[in-house]
This record gives sequence, C-alpha cells and structure tokens, in this order.
Amino acid sequence: MTDEGLDRDTVMADYSKLKVGVLALQGDFKRHTHQLGQLGSRTLEVRTASHLEEIDGLIIPGGESTTMDILIDRFRLRQPLIEFCQIKPVWGTCAGMIMLAKNIEDNQANVSPLGLMDIDVVRTGYGRQVHSFEQLLMTKLNGEDITLRATFIRAPMITRVGKSVQILIEYNGSPVLVSEGLIMASSFHTELDNDTTLLEFFMGRFLLSQK
Ligand code: GLN
Repeated sequence: MTDEGLDRDTVMADYSKLKVGVLALQGDFKRHTHQLGQLGSRTLEVRTASHLEEIDGLIIPGGESTTMDILIDRFRLRQPLIEFCQIKPVWGTCAGMIMLAKNIEDNQANVSPLGLMDIDVVRTGYGRQVHSFEQLLMTKLNGEDITLRATFIRAPMITRVGKSVQILIEYNGSPVLVSEGLIMASSFHTELDNDTTLLEFFMGRFLLSQK
C-alpha cells in the first residue's frame, strides 16, 4: 500500500455501515448517490414509503420544488416523509430545502412544503437561471477551516430562521446552511463540483453520531 493509501485509510471515516437514501422522484439525485458511493456508503433511491424503512438518513436533492411537491403526493410519500424526517437525519439541498421549510414567501406556485424546519424561504431568491453562480465559500464548520465549492442555481433564500435553528454558514448576510435537530438544509449545491466536504460533514455530524 502506498503512503497516500495509508493516509486516506486512516483519515476517512467508515461509512460502509450506513445506508443513505436519496429522494429520487425528480432532480439531481444521481449526483448524490454517486458521491455517497464514492465515500463507501450504501445508498438507495427512494421512491416508496417502504424504502424509507430501509435507510438511516435521507437527502432531498435539488430540482424543481413545484414538480417535487406534486410527485410527493402522487407517490403517496407526504406523510411517510414527514414521519421519517421527525426521527432520522435529513439534508435538503436547494429545492430540497424549500420542501423542508415551514413557509414559502410569495408562494405563487402554491407549493406545499413539508413544514419540518422552522425557516421561511423565497424561491429563486438569488435570481433566475442566468444569475446562477459558483462561489468558493471559505468558512468554519465544526471549528475547522473549510472551503466549499458551492453552486447557486435558482437558489432559495432563507428570510427567517426560528430560535431553534442553528446558522452554520452565511453568505452575503443571509444564512445559506442551517440545521435544526437532525435536519440540515443548504441553499446551494456542492455535489455538482464533486466536492464531498459537506456530505462528509452531514454524515459525520448527523448519521455516524446516531450509530
Ligand atoms: N428554484 C427551484 C425551485 O423552486 C430550486 C432550484 C434548485 O433546486 N437548484 O424548486
């Protein structure tokens, strides 16, 4: 084994005992399952209520919240998802964050969020597709300096956080990564740039700690 191999083995957490689901109704769920596989975790594309019984945690991916909202009902997942998110770790990215929110401001498309996290969001708060941007976020997580390759694509902006919500990262004066209990939500994507930093943070803080 090379020195590099040794270092990696000693540094990498063991994710193999975890099975992490990715809600796979719509959106960029494949990027998340790919990254989970890269880290050595088992994964499951979640499309039915019984899939939720098999997993230790869930990622709700980015995509289009209006479509996700309709499909959650069509696949009879609304109540099972609400019950799952009350007891197991969940990370919502972008449209996933919209679905986790308590309220959507100026909700013209009439999306019904799951209401699991005490935040309000504005859909596309960072501008439309042409205003999508990549941003290196240099910050501290868990007391460690980290750099995230964050992509904001028609990203939701958090406009209110409840008292029990922890702001983990701010960008331009607004929270962009928040947590409450076992739920984490980000306005931005990191899976598109193959940056696993935030995924490892989610797995370490919310999933491995439960095992
Ligand atoms: N603006 C989209 C929505 O409202 C979210 C975009 C994304 O997930 N990248 O669903």
